[in-house]
Amino acid sequence: MTDRRTFIKRTVMMAAAAAMAPSGILAGADSRSGQCGISSGRHCGPGACSRKMILEWEDFTARMKHTFSISGSSRDTTPIVLTRLHWNGVTGYGEASLPPYLPETQASVRSYLKKVSEEVLPRFDDPFRIEDILAEADALMPGNTAAKASLDIALHDLVGRLIGQPWWKIWGWDAAKTPYTCYTIGWDASDETVFEKTREASWSKILKVKLGRGDEQDRRMIRLIRSVNPETPMFVDANQGWKDKEYALDMTGWLKEQGVVMIEQPMDKYDIDAHAWLTERSPLPVIADEACQRLSDVRRLYGAYSGINIKLMKCTGMREAREMVSLARALGMKLMIGCMTETSVAISAAAQLSPAMEWADLDGNILIANDCFDGMKLDKGKIMLGDAPGIGVTELGMR
Ligand SMILES: [Mg+2]
Repeated sequence: MTDRRTFIKRTVMMAAAAAMAPSGILAGADSRSGQCGISSGRHCGPGACSRKMILEWEDFTARMKHTFSISGSSRDTTPIVLTRLHWNGVTGYGEASLPPYLPETQASVRSYLKKVSEEVLPRFDDPFRIEDILAEADALMPGNTAAKASLDIALHDLVGRLIGQPWWKIWGWDAAKTPYTCYTIGWDASDETVFEKTREASWSKILKVKLGRGDEQDRRMIRLIRSVNPETPMFVDANQGWKDKEYALDMTGWLKEQGVVMIEQPMDKYDIDAHAWLTERSPLPVIADEACQRLSDVRRLYGAYSGINIKLMKCTGMREAREMVSLARALGMKLMIGCMTETSVAISAAAQLSPAMEWADLDGNILIANDCFDGMKLDKGKIMLGDAPGIGVTELGMR
């Protein structure tokens, strides 16, 4: 039991600190690339003991271990913005990942976060009001979903740390029910490279193959992988690459014979009718990725797809992702959790939702060479959730 004198002393100190703390906002735009750590490395910095939430952010460049190729583009780095939300001596971490084929940039994220700092956070002195804070932040501007996710993740991490529990536990899920993450094998012109990547992925219980480069190349990739690894179940992601529903149906039949268990976004994201036609006939579940961004998309896609791929960067973060889980489950739709190229911050945040998922594609952090956080762990590909509070991350090389 806390003795009364200690309690009074603590209360007086907190009140004094709150009175002294800046009521405004610190905009920490530090554009160092590829390095971890905000300028001071402080635990709670300017917001120490403040009753106002203080948001900081910095640009970060994730370096890929291997050149990352998807249909139409290749890259060696991914721009990211890391956020820190301070309140009363506790810090929560967040992240926006900004692959170049999407509209958001580091500049747009900084501009959004500045607006949040000036127009939303000063109106709240209690981070537990997650619903109101995030609803107001969402209403500030349309779009900006990755920027919104960077605030949402930091706020959830902060509140989880204040409660002293991880979110998978707060939500009441069973950590034993996490799925295995898949590991992605990208297209490559060299047969030898595909063999090598397939051998490197031998630890993985599920492979994911990116298709959509035309019939010859699609079948070539599957045959090359199967010649090295005939057994491991595979996901296929066509990234809207198939143009015709009859062709898509033929391919799903052939892919099922090759040990494929699910197909992601086979055709144009706007063509709901073609997907409904395919889903009705396909021997494999058909999952919406590009077609499914936010909560409002789920009901619209019901009946046209077997399930949805939820990504925090698309849906504005953990709050809305949790709502998508409930709605999709109520509609009997299958669930997958995915990611962009992300550090362990956003990956660990997504992992909190993984016990509710049938499938997971959370390999973003293991694809980058300079992850500056420690977080979600895999055990032979199975997502392991620990008891660390919030999203369960530690910043590396800071303290
Ligand atoms: Mg996809």
